[in-house]
Amino acid sequence: MARIVMKFGGTSVADLDRIRHVAGLVEAEAKAGHEVAVVVSAMSGETNRLVALVDALDGDTDNADTIDDEYDHIVASGEQVTSGLLAIALRRKGLKARSWLGWQIPLMTDFAYSKARISGIKSPAMDESLKSGTIGVVAGFQGITTDNRISTLGRGGSDTSAVAIAVALKADRCDIYTDVDGIYTTDPRIVKNARRLDRISFEEMLELASLGAKVLQTRSVELAMNNDLPIRVLTSMAKDGEPNPGTLVCNEVNDMEERVVSGVAYSRDEAQITLLRLKDKPGMVAKVTRAMSDANVIVDMIVQGISRSDNAANLTFTVGKRDLEKALAALNASKDAIGFEGIKSDDNVSKVSIVGIGMRSHTGVAQTMFEALAERGINVEVIATSEIKISVLIDSEYTELAVRALHAAFELETA
Ligand code: ASP
Ligand code: MG
Repeated sequence: MARIVMKFGGTSVADLDRIRHVAGLVEAEAKAGHEVAVVVSAMSGETNRLVALVDALDGDTDNADTIDDEYDHIVASGEQVTSGLLAIALRRKGLKARSWLGWQIPLMTDFAYSKARISGIKSPAMDESLKSGTIGVVAGFQGITTDNRISTLGRGGSDTSAVAIAVALKADRCDIYTDVDGIYTTDPRIVKNARRLDRISFEEMLELASLGAKVLQTRSVELAMNNDLPIRVLTSMAKDGEPNPGTLVCNEVNDMEERVVSGVAYSRDEAQITLLRLKDKPGMVAKVTRAMSDANVIVDMIVQGISRSDNAANLTFTVGKRDLEKALAALNASKDAIGFEGIKSDDNVSKVSIVGIGMRSHTGVAQTMFEALAERGINVEVIATSEIKISVLIDSEYTELAVRALHAAFELETA
């Protein structure tokens, strides 16, 4: 007998038929003798609908920029519905089941409403309930602050709920069911022969998730890595009897090293800003990044051009496309305080990245990447690297071409 956490995303609980189907998957694990806790998202589209309601009221005033704790109270409600519906569906199958809201567990968080971080989970009641053979159906995404206010864990946060609950309950397994059958070498919509990976390391998954592969919330991968809890990503849509091995996200094992590159990721959510003739002296880049963090804008890739004899250099960096206007407004407002002569910006750019822990031990990876791009005449505007990743910023028109070129160059279809 094992203790299992199963998580189902929005498309897996999108309507009553899907919820019935999920109840069948949960039933199979319970009937196999396991203790089961299930974590559910809201029905797909529901959180967007709720966020839009809040946004519409925010539109009534010009100064609704701060996040209101009522936002969390509202958007958390989608998960209340699906957890209750799944508990009923399980009861109708003759199983013992009950729903749990974040505060009933309780899943405690900090006060960062709309993107709260989990501070602790103590769940003696849920532990008892599972031991007594009752399936626990948890509303993902939600928690509670020490002020007794509902909080939420950021978009996609029910993945993080699932991992945190699996850690707290000392589960043997955490299975994340979604609408794809695993983690792929790249987006199969772009590369038809993209391949499902049997395994991927936490570190690679972390890079892929933060680069925009939306299958898992980045924080859920961090949490799993810190607690050495393997996550299996698999589809909830498999037909009866069909094999559904999914992808295991786990600590690196030897055979992963043989693969130089594991995946190609891309993001179109990029914008590029260049500050022209920024003074070249200590502290200038810090002033720019301070202006951005004060405006709540995350800066990603940064390059500074070579200083010319008159001690001024151009500084180029990237921000999320949605933050571009905010970033430009903040920079223009502090133009004199920072000290630069002009701004150029471009939101017609994409970031394409290759990720693989094998890069640590193989040479020539960068060369293969840049040759593949050069052969297609793709110009690279900004480059960023980490130990296991190389990212380039390119004209978005070439996104698909670059992804295909890199997938082929690293032989990911056959590896
Ligand atoms: N329902 C929330 C969202 O759409 C949380 C989740 O699905 O993970 O972001
Ligand atoms: Mg999700």
